[in-house]
Amino acid sequence: MQFKDIIGHSSQIALLRRMADSQAIPHALLLHGPSGIGKMQTARAFINYICCENPTDGDSCGVCPSCRQLNSLNLPDVHYIFPILKKNSTKTPLSSDYLEEWKEFLANFSYMQPEKWLELLNAGNSQPTFYVSEADEISRVASLSSYSSPFKFFIIWLPEKMDGPVANKLLKIIEEPFSDTLFILVSNNASMILPTIFSRCQRLEFNRLSDTEIANALIASGAAPEKINEITRLAEGRPVKAFELLSQEGEAEEFGELFRNIMRNAYSRNVSGLKSLSDRLSQSGREKSMRLLDYFASQVRENFIYNLHTPSLNMLSPSEETFSKKFAPFIHIGNVEKIDEEISKARTDISRNANAKLVWFDFFLKLLILIRIPIPQS
Ligand SMILES: [Zn+2]
Repeated sequence: MQFKDIIGHSSQIALLRRMADSQAIPHALLLHGPSGIGKMQTARAFINYICCENPTDGDSCGVCPSCRQLNSLNLPDVHYIFPILKKNSTKTPLSSDYLEEWKEFLANFSYMQPEKWLELLNAGNSQPTFYVSEADEISRVASLSSYSSPFKFFIIWLPEKMDGPVANKLLKIIEEPFSDTLFILVSNNASMILPTIFSRCQRLEFNRLSDTEIANALIASGAAPEKINEITRLAEGRPVKAFELLSQEGEAEEFGELFRNIMRNAYSRNVSGLKSLSDRLSQSGREKSMRLLDYFASQVRENFIYNLHTPSLNMLSPSEETFSKKFAPFIHIGNVEKIDEEISKARTDISRNANAKLVWFDFFLKLLILIRIPIPQS
């Protein structure tokens, strides 16, 4: 990660660059502001800049051994601390128990959407947290010397989720600075951080981006010019939202076609057609599959509502409505809940990396039965 990769935040980046250039880096920094705007990206680019063997024009080089190790998340002096769930196999839960999931998270979701982290942890209804064992481990590692970098870095993501005992231990560690140790706290909600920790850190506030910054980022990403205004408006200054919307552009038509195709095959009990559709969908990848299932859930709801003949309640595109005119009667009080449950179940299974081909085929077979349930006579 380099400063040049970050959208916006130029004054915060300039300040961090000055700190590094003048070797006046505080031992605890707090980067805080709304989620999905690039705080963690900035923290990572800052570390790259500090460790780079050949910094040029106020940025890391991106190619030296340190930059390469940082980019592949393999620099031994960088320690990420984040909320986790306790594994049954351990008495001393640590963030490093989830190193593989964390690497996947940083690689695929550099805007650190908390809901994506919950999915990677298979958290279900559990709330990830920090454990006292984590604070003990930070203390132990901080007392060792660094391997090759000027600092041992501890990047603490979502410190607002630390409860009293852990936060107090962390406070003690921050209060007694170990040599060559830099804490970078990255928070979406600084008002929830233990006030004594908050006041011990040098704070850097991050704000939502301007519409111009978002629009320029969309142009640079090759967004269709006629879509830029609308996406910019909906993104509300959060690049994560802008890019999400951009990737979903063009999916709407594909998803509509798939929905119609699947429902037709389910109704006509075309098992081999459903089998080849499940083969095709298993190639879609987890994120897209989950978006498709969300789309299915919304279409099932829309078709159920369509039967009420109150157009103001419906939000269907023209092509969706053409299909619904004939299809809506098959979604009714006798099956709507069951279909919705099957969609949620498939979504959970996909989010847990179950075999996608089996999940889709199983879902289609349930659909084949549910779609033929007759309307209950009242
Ligand atoms: Zn470098």
